[in-house]
Amino acid sequence: MTSVKVAVRVRPFNQRERNFESECIIQMDGQTTKIRNPETGEIKEFAFDFSYWSHDGFDEQPNGYMTPQAGSNYADQDRVFQDLGQEVLNNAFDGYHTCLFAYGQTGSGKSYSIVGYGNNKGVIPLACEEIFRRIDERTNNPENNIQHSVTLSMIEIYNECVQDLLIKPSERPKGGLNVREHPKFGIFVEGMSKVPVQSYNEIQKQIDTGTSNRTVGSTNMNATSSRAHTVTTLTFTQRFMDREKGIPTSEKMSEINLVDLAGSERAASTGATGDRLKEGSNINKSLSVLGKCISILAQKSSTGNKSAVVPYRESKLTFILKNALGGNSKTTMIAALSPASVNYDETLSTLRYAWQVK
Ligand code: ADP
Repeated sequence: MTSVKVAVRVRPFNQRERNFESECIIQMDGQTTKIRNPETGEIKEFAFDFSYWSHDGFDEQPNGYMTPQAGSNYADQDRVFQDLGQEVLNNAFDGYHTCLFAYGQTGSGKSYSIVGYGNNKGVIPLACEEIFRRIDERTNNPENNIQHSVTLSMIEIYNECVQDLLIKPSERPKGGLNVREHPKFGIFVEGMSKVPVQSYNEIQKQIDTGTSNRTVGSTNMNATSSRAHTVTTLTFTQRFMDREKGIPTSEKMSEINLVDLAGSERAASTGATGDRLKEGSNINKSLSVLGKCISILAQKSSTGNKSAVVPYRESKLTFILKNALGGNSKTTMIAALSPASVNYDETLSTLRYAWQVK
């Protein structure tokens, strides 16, 4: 069983957009997101599971003639976590694999949603806090006969090369890690660290290490833009114990994959040449393969058509996530949007992508 949930989230204006006196071209109303072509005035509408607005009210919008329906679409980090993150955990406790992706152009708010900044924690830290809160709650219950374990992995896929972010760059194998398929256990990344973690603080420490080990490339668009996909995986195991014998009678294992995708902007708009252009085309390819895989899986589950081929092998990202995307799994996508007319083309292409995966 596969199911796909898609949310779009528009961030507030940034300073650059304000300096350009860029207009607000996004409007949200319930589940619907509308985008207005700043040149022709044409409006396109898309419906998603959730359409999230970031600033409450109208005051933050320069030239805001496309105003949001203030109130109900407003979502802070907690609301996004309650709507999407809690469900990811519910699914994991039920034994499903899950993937949560953040998609969008550089600077649109992917990292804000998935990792967060400072006290504005995103889905990953909130989910890590919550998983241990739930485990403690169960462990403190004398009726409980379940043992839990959590491991953390963190990899980066840059130019189709897979690197372990929990290992220092100087200690990594040259050429990256191999991805292999085991006849019984499925896909695995050979040699990838799986660090056992017992608390939120331990996870946070590992994630901080991983984040500082990321490859950060600068492009004309944003000095700290990431041109790599970052995949943070919690492997959550529940062992159901026979209380008298003290041995496990059954086990449920689920993978929670939280993926901060590389910026979706087309290579041309970032003024890329040479190596950067190659990066750009690898990114575009892996994002389009990801979109294809998710939409074929969604169609297969809704139509029961078992014969459609899912092109997992066409990119490293989808190959690595094969176990978690197909079969017994749930997928969530947060598409991050800029509200500003200067980003019209990219924002429209993000909306189309998000629409197509549904
Ligand atoms: P990306 O990861 O897509 O490159 P970021 O997440 O780094 O983009 O977001 C760019 C900037 O916008 C950051 O300064 C971030 O704090 C801000 N931002 C993004 N989304 C939101 C939001 N929903 N609410 C408030 N600020 C946001």
